[in-house]
Amino acid sequence: MAKISINLSSGELEKTPESDIIIGIDLGTTNSLVAYIHEAKAMAVAGADGKNTLVPSIVHFDESGQVIVGNEAKKYLLTDPQNTIYSVKRLMGKSYKDVSDAEQYLGYKIIDEDTDSLVKIRVRDRFYSPVELSAKILTELKTRIEATLGQAVSKAVITVPAYFNDAQRQATRDAGKLAGLDVLRIVNEPTAASLAYGIGLSPDESKKIAVYDLGGGTFDISILQIQGGIFEVLSTNGDTYLGGDDFDRAIIDFWLEKYHINKNILIDNKKISQQFRVAAEEAKKTLSLDNQYIGRIGEWSCEILKAEFENLISPLINKTLNSCKQALSDAKLTVENIDSVIMVGGSTRVPLVKKTVSEFFNQAVNDKLNPDEVVALGAAIQADILAGNNKDLLLIDITPLSLGIETMGGLMDTIIPRNTKVPAKAGRQYTTSVDGQKNLQVAVYQGERDLVSDNRKLGEFILRGIPPMPAGIPKIDIQFILDADGILTVRARELRSEIEQQIQVKSAYGISEEEMARMLLDSIQYAESDMKIRALLEARNEANNILLSADKFIEQNKTILNEEEIKETKRLTEALRQSVEGDDKDAINLAMENLNTYTTPLAHRAMDANIGAAIKGKKLG
Ligand code: ADP
Ligand code: MG
Repeated sequence: MAKISINLSSGELEKTPESDIIIGIDLGTTNSLVAYIHEAKAMAVAGADGKNTLVPSIVHFDESGQVIVGNEAKKYLLTDPQNTIYSVKRLMGKSYKDVSDAEQYLGYKIIDEDTDSLVKIRVRDRFYSPVELSAKILTELKTRIEATLGQAVSKAVITVPAYFNDAQRQATRDAGKLAGLDVLRIVNEPTAASLAYGIGLSPDESKKIAVYDLGGGTFDISILQIQGGIFEVLSTNGDTYLGGDDFDRAIIDFWLEKYHINKNILIDNKKISQQFRVAAEEAKKTLSLDNQYIGRIGEWSCEILKAEFENLISPLINKTLNSCKQALSDAKLTVENIDSVIMVGGSTRVPLVKKTVSEFFNQAVNDKLNPDEVVALGAAIQADILAGNNKDLLLIDITPLSLGIETMGGLMDTIIPRNTKVPAKAGRQYTTSVDGQKNLQVAVYQGERDLVSDNRKLGEFILRGIPPMPAGIPKIDIQFILDADGILTVRARELRSEIEQQIQVKSAYGISEEEMARMLLDSIQYAESDMKIRALLEARNEANNILLSADKFIEQNKTILNEEEIKETKRLTEALRQSVEGDDKDAINLAMENLNTYTTPLAHRAMDANIGAAIKGKKLG
């Protein structure tokens, strides 16, 4: 990038002392863990007990707001579900619309509004973003490794599923930043798993591999092509609701039936329900080694044979094979083209899973490493490469600072994140915020802070002549094209009228190494306050949109709503307007939620009435 004299591959600005460790993190749906290179070997870090390397990805909040993460938090899953957040990875970078179907699987409250804004989770009277919750897990991992090493760490590589989109990757970066980590790179989980097995480490290697990842609640199959040290994802497939948890549920159902136990006991008695879950998981793990399990839950002795368990789960395993077939066909490959198969995820410890998958691919699978650690181990290896300890590997030029544009309220919207390989191209669609808006100002910034005022302005232009349309209707596509010399072209185009405008800027021009270093350090130091401001501005933007529609709603449905309803809607709207004046994002979110809860049934009624009227209007004769 613009040939600045810094180590572009690692984003390092000064010579790093040899001891400066970069850590590898697997931020999982069910479990997370951290690993590092110790005496030339990747090692997962255990907790204080010295043995458990896995940290359950669960966050619990007690009444005083005290946060606990991991095994301690897991205990509250059944006794305090509203305040115990799990599977937050499913919500990363998602809008309410995206997750409306996921809510039935979660025991906690996602604010349910049908909008494009990012999801928030309500815990007591506070509202958390998935980024904030993931940051709590990352902080736990950071503390864990710092305790083990006896030194502070700040640089990390974090893994994500291969199918994660831009927004989900950016959310993961933000979570790292909020936890005080400089995220040098986001790496695909299957790529990390492959590195852990040493596949793809030598530049002259050329291979096609399949990574089969069966975790707690998700299944992913990825087909990768490795060539000259570059990993390319050819296809991905899977099932976002299939994993080891389903095996546990199958065992519970088996016991209920076998011992004629009424299903309702699981709903009525949380303690027994929890005991069943714990025993079922224990049974499953036992059966990965032994032929039978004998346990006890209260008055019942619970037994299951391996053969019985295999019967229960074989339909589930067959489902994963369908995904494998689809992934192969999408990659235009057959089983014969696959050079290696890698097993990832705790659930691949089940012997029948290994056997079925190896039969399907018609070869022995790679299963020597702990399947629930392999992604973190690979992340540590990638981190070590970035740290420059693996000199043989060819590294590619990257952009040292993020590039983005200013959006509503002065927020930075990153389009090309820092450490992206160049040349790079990325884009996003925007719209107008005012009815009949004709011009749109596009201001381009560089930097890691959440407010553009803290970043470096590279240039701006105005897209003129947008045909008058209601707010939110125009589709304005903004493309960032960064060439190998660091020249950035920003192009804005309104897709209906096809009007277009563009500028070119030198992204690295006139910026010193010191200045760049300061910008990076600031972004971490101010991550928390930036996050607060961002959350407040986002809540305000969203509230302003809702206020606009609420006013329209009352105006349009005067005849359908009764006086009481209009009065109450106006009262709640007024309360929201008041809260927007203040600086408390939780108060704004609460006011939005109150208004939304009250008006949703009214909106449904109004819609029915309007449809009714439309049908009547069409009456023949
Ligand atoms: P994720 O990637 O979704 O965060 P993991 O890879 O950690 O999850 O997998 C967690 C799942 O692996 C859980 O359902 C757990 O019960 C299962 N698991 C862990 N060890 C074993 C074992 N020995 N036998 C069978 N299943 C196991
Ligand atoms: Mg995983």
